[in-house]
Amino acid sequence: MNQTQLITFITDYIEANQEKLDDIAKQIFDFAEVRFEEYKSSALISQVLEDAGFSIRRGVGKLDTAFIAEFSNKANKPVVAFLGEYDALPNLSQIPGLAQQQAEIPDGSGHGCGHNLLGTASLGAALAVKEALLKFDLSGSVRYYGCPAEEGGSGKTFMVRDGVFDYVDTAICWHPAPDNIIWGVSTLANIQAEYAFKGISSHAAAAPEVGRSALDAVELMNVGANYLREHVPSDVRFHYAITDTGGKSPNVVQADAKVLYLIRAPQIATVNDVYARISNIAKGAALMTGTEVTIRFDKACSNYLPNHILASTMDDIFHELGAPAFNAEEIALAKEIRKSIPEVNRQREFVSEMLTAEGKAMELAAKDKDLSDFIYPYGPEAANLILSGSTDVGDVSWKVPTVQCLVASHTRQTAAHTWQWTTTGKTSIGLKGMRHAAKIMGATGLKLFVEPELITAAKAELDNKTQQMPYQNPIPVGVDPNNQK
Ligand SMILES: [Zn+2]
Repeated sequence: MNQTQLITFITDYIEANQEKLDDIAKQIFDFAEVRFEEYKSSALISQVLEDAGFSIRRGVGKLDTAFIAEFSNKANKPVVAFLGEYDALPNLSQIPGLAQQQAEIPDGSGHGCGHNLLGTASLGAALAVKEALLKFDLSGSVRYYGCPAEEGGSGKTFMVRDGVFDYVDTAICWHPAPDNIIWGVSTLANIQAEYAFKGISSHAAAAPEVGRSALDAVELMNVGANYLREHVPSDVRFHYAITDTGGKSPNVVQADAKVLYLIRAPQIATVNDVYARISNIAKGAALMTGTEVTIRFDKACSNYLPNHILASTMDDIFHELGAPAFNAEEIALAKEIRKSIPEVNRQREFVSEMLTAEGKAMELAAKDKDLSDFIYPYGPEAANLILSGSTDVGDVSWKVPTVQCLVASHTRQTAAHTWQWTTTGKTSIGLKGMRHAAKIMGATGLKLFVEPELITAAKAELDNKTQQMPYQNPIPVGVDPNNQK
């Protein structure tokens, strides 16, 4: 079976099942369940897989809404896994298809990162590959990993820590985006930790001398951390949110206050170093204010390790399939949505940081397009670029050779985690992108069963990297994902 034949098989399967896949993506859009609460979404997807003959293991990695679905034909190896996400974000409810911001449910959550599309495309790919294994009598296992809490939960990093990916040979994923490109770049590793200060409450005017302010400690900690910025590598980022100010009355010395820190850098070793220094600053702030600090490790993830063998394999398939084709009506909707994006934000594309020199030129030429109709070029030099964001796919990529792509499912120049992103997630724009991604991923997965030597080469590439820099899961043993705030 050559590449064209396997693409045709997968494409036919996805198109024959278009209605079913679209319906699942729409249902998950409506569920809009936030991290660790994806009960309906994970139940829906796992049920479809179970009905298709996959065996299901639920609650993996100590996460209620995580699961593994597996279908084997003739042998258990190789194991090709599709990663699915389905979590939404708070406060991003949006009436789908509307070119202005309007919540469908006031203060409700919404799919501001398109994970209703993400999880459904991976489902389509897994189902299509299962059919191909039977039809062409190929040996091996196809798996679907139901991965909760990508948004601020690092679900996959906990799953990797707990050995859930130990027998996987290749992992395949995608992300909805405004543009089409292979994800060949690295991302930032991160650690999130909460600093909870405990002081002594008192009347702020009548007895201030007996009070010990936890809020003072938070403020002093932040001042100290801001001074630290000068003395860390220039690519380190850290941000904080005061999650508990201790109360609303200035007349009370605040006995409790909390601040949440998110620390990022290109390598987890650097993040660990900065985390230790910030923790010392917190202890210093506690000492200064006569308070006590409790540090709670929240979550972490490693940087993404692109795999060139797999990326070029997927890139070949992506180019043979072409970009998703959008019609005049879809372009007209995107044009309206794009009008809401401030001019200053149009200068910077979601994919800008992923582009090689050739891609940069294409970006400039396409600056007025409302929907993408082209694929940015991929080259191994992309591995030297870093996207200033983080993903928990990072930890999977250190354990298993991993590949992912971005497929146009949203208006160009929109940013993730905005209503503009949410609004196309249930329209034909998003659904078209979703089905296209299912075809790319499914064909990539199938090609690995047909040419298993690609898996061997991809593993050798990963082994070579991890021999130079061994992987260590960034989440300490004992940190429970269910204790996240
Ligand atoms: Zn996302």
